Amino acid sequence: MSDLPITRDMFDDVMVPNYAPAAIIPVRGEGSRLWDQDGREYIDFAGGIAVNVLGHAHPKLVAALTEQARKLWHVSNLLTNEPALKLARRLCELTFAQRVFFANSGAEANEAALKLARKYAADHAGPDKREIIAFTPSFHGRTLFTVSVGGQPKYTEGFEPLPPGITHVPFNDLAAFASAISERTCAVILEPVLGESGVVSATPEFLRGVRELCDRHQALLIFDEVQCGNGRCGHLYAYMGYGVTPDILTTAKGLGGGFPISAMLTTAPIAASLNVGSHGTTYGGNPLGCAVAGAVLDLISDPELLAGVRRKHAAFMAGLRRINDRFGIFREVRGKGLLLGCELTDAWRGRSRDFVKAATDQGLLVLVAGPDVIRLAPSLIIPDELIEEGLRRFERAIAQLLHQTALAGEESAHAAR
Ligand SMILES: *Cc1c(COP(=O)(O)O)cnc(C)c1O
Repeated sequence: MSDLPITRDMFDDVMVPNYAPAAIIPVRGEGSRLWDQDGREYIDFAGGIAVNVLGHAHPKLVAALTEQARKLWHVSNLLTNEPALKLARRLCELTFAQRVFFANSGAEANEAALKLARKYAADHAGPDKREIIAFTPSFHGRTLFTVSVGGQPKYTEGFEPLPPGITHVPFNDLAAFASAISERTCAVILEPVLGESGVVSATPEFLRGVRELCDRHQALLIFDEVQCGNGRCGHLYAYMGYGVTPDILTTAKGLGGGFPISAMLTTAPIAASLNVGSHGTTYGGNPLGCAVAGAVLDLISDPELLAGVRRKHAAFMAGLRRINDRFGIFREVRGKGLLLGCELTDAWRGRSRDFVKAATDQGLLVLVAGPDVIRLAPSLIIPDELIEEGLRRFERAIAQLLHQTALAGEESAHAAR
């Protein structure tokens, strides 16, 4: 391999063009801060898209990973391993689940959940119970099955033919759901808090109603907690805050704190349908991933950490509202725990990406959730002083963007004269 310097320009020469990464290349992280190739520092309110629940290079995660790395990396599912069994036992102790399936990404966990639901219906109800109901907008991953279930045309166009037997209903619309569900429905999948699709929380009545209707029609209820789980919303899993329990739960993103691992949790009777040979993945339950996730779970299941998430939520909400008092650019500031969304007013619709860029220029990383919402998903243990400093940078970024936009407006008015 050549020793030429690594630059952002290389991306366009060597990578498939399905991403458009920012101009900077981070090389090091510590807690809620990152440094780029030029040594510039950034406060991280993005968390690698709601993944780095314990920030960067957390000493306990580094220790778990390096200790396991010295012992055993991979054995395949022809053999089981201690970190996987330990993690599965812990997940069962902490949740409704009795059985766990490990995979490597959110999409794979959802793929397993959807396949399990179909198989369970085939085992127990016969060939007419095949339909899956999902909600719009929502996001469940990018495999052909999960992207079809997600139901966003911008992600499925060109990939047809799509798998059949999937129905879409507006999110939080219980009446529409009640008329869509039937004896033919084998599963219903939803995000208790929409992540990619604008940071919208399910209403408690909606979740309770969906649960009741699933029971009445013997449909399995799948909660996709890939993004909203793992302490992100102030409870270990979001369903716990609602008091509505699914039949299957999928989790990924925060579970490995940055190491790729996902899990599908379910009950023993439902799990029985994924019998020997029916489903699998080479890396799922890999000792490295499970060792790291075990350390993550130890920390994020601590009630004090979770109380801290709810406290930091209040600090963010107060800070964001203060910023909005000055600029009046948000129609709404919302979210649960440390999954926060700032929906832009009509005047700024479609411009969420401009705010991300302006923030990066001020040394702050933030996310979008669609064109109209700025999303924040920082570490669950971000120190209060970095919340304050990050919000100050956010405020400067907004001031700068508004200033530039005003200048551009004057120039075009001038040109028109
Ligand atoms: C990110 C996400 C996924 C997909 O996870 P990948 O690891 O990218 O496959 C699925 N569901 C939700 C709710 C997500 O936020």
